[in-house]
Amino acid sequence: MTASDWRKMLKQFKNKPKIKEKFLKHCKPKERKFGIAARKCERCGRFGAHIKSYGLNLCRHCFREIAVEIGFKKYS
Ligand SMILES: [Zn+2]
Repeated sequence: MTASDWRKMLKQFKNKPKIKEKFLKHCKPKERKFGIAARKCERCGRFGAHIKSYGLNLCRHCFREIAVEIGFKKYS
């Protein structure tokens, strides 16, 4: 199962409604309120190294790529 989005799994149950039902009952990931898996990068879907300051909601990799475009300036 891909960690990026579990809903991708549902595609393979297109013609198997009972198995889909069973998957949703027993194997669906929990809705998280806190912890590392509670929020993910809006751009790429990574869970780690999250920046939520200024309402960015990006991972550090995406932030590094688009920082200049969104108006951040490196002083060093
Ligand atoms: Zn990202």
